[in-house]
Amino acid sequence: MLTGMQIAVIGGDARQLEIIRKLTERDAKLSLIGFEQLDHAFTGATKEKIDELDFSVQDALILPVPGTNLTGQVETIFSSEKVILTEDMLKKLPSHAVIYSGISNKYLDEITKKANRRLVQLFERDDVAIYNSIPTVEGTIMMVIQHTDFTIHGSKIAVLGLGRVGVTVARTFHALGAKVMVGARKSEHLARITEMGHTPFHLNDIETAVKDIDICINTIPHPIVTAAVISKMPAHTLIIDLASKPGGTDFRYAEKRGIKALLAPGLPGIVAPKTAGQILAKVLIKLLSEDMRNRKES
Ligand code: NAP
Repeated sequence: MLTGMQIAVIGGDARQLEIIRKLTERDAKLSLIGFEQLDHAFTGATKEKIDELDFSVQDALILPVPGTNLTGQVETIFSSEKVILTEDMLKKLPSHAVIYSGISNKYLDEITKKANRRLVQLFERDDVAIYNSIPTVEGTIMMVIQHTDFTIHGSKIAVLGLGRVGVTVARTFHALGAKVMVGARKSEHLARITEMGHTPFHLNDIETAVKDIDICINTIPHPIVTAAVISKMPAHTLIIDLASKPGGTDFRYAEKRGIKALLAPGLPGIVAPKTAGQILAKVLIKLLSEDMRNRKES
């Protein structure tokens, strides 16, 4: 139980609703910022505005998966108001307070560092990233179906990257009957790709590898699908870029060449917000309970 804990949930999409539900079930007291257009009311949770929030009593802040943008703005699907998180706000938090976010950026890193408060990025955890790869890939399948006039079965797919998302993408599209090639730069990854029954290629050879593909799915958050790479792809190729913003694709050049390239952020929140929220809620409850226990012990 999280009885006695005061937590502010600041912004977010439908995934946050599952988190709010689970935290109130555990008896935490919640302040909801950026939810005033939400019809639903939760027992134990009060809707507030960011300038009304008493930061000095919060044990934790829960931000949406992207955290903030580079100017501190927090995404708020259920509000028309601009919510900005600042260093001064964080400085008002008790010293034990923890800020939870999915991922971070330069702005969020800097304000938490300057305010001397702990930031936990949930997506740095392998368990969260692996569970989250399941709805991510279901969303990818949805996008591929929506944007092609051929079946996944029998199509040639180049997956870039063999991280937590890349493994699930490769395995799932293979299971659907696609001919999957996976590009990586580490020799152990190339060995694993072979073991999984896919065709490996080194990323140094990407320009050759994409010559006769139908679909390219990028999971590498680095400029990898460059103009030179795109220029080698067949004209009908569909590029789905799953890497975090701004993705790894030269979208300007793809458009110029007439190749459809889509940046697809936040797929779990779009296709399976309930499951995606449950994944986050589960780990948040574990971490918040540990925080509470450690504080009591000390
Ligand atoms: P990950 O486990 O860290 O995997 C990243 C992969 O990219 C690894 O194979 C890594 O290879 C490779 N890589 C990184 N930098 C590289 C570079 N400069 N050159 C070549 N390869 C490089 O990350 P993940 O959990 O799979 O997530 C992948 C991306 O998807 C992230 O940007 C994440 O934010 C995003 N994501 C998007 C969604 C969505 O809905 N679109 C959902 C979940 C995650 P090495 O091991 O060789 O470094």
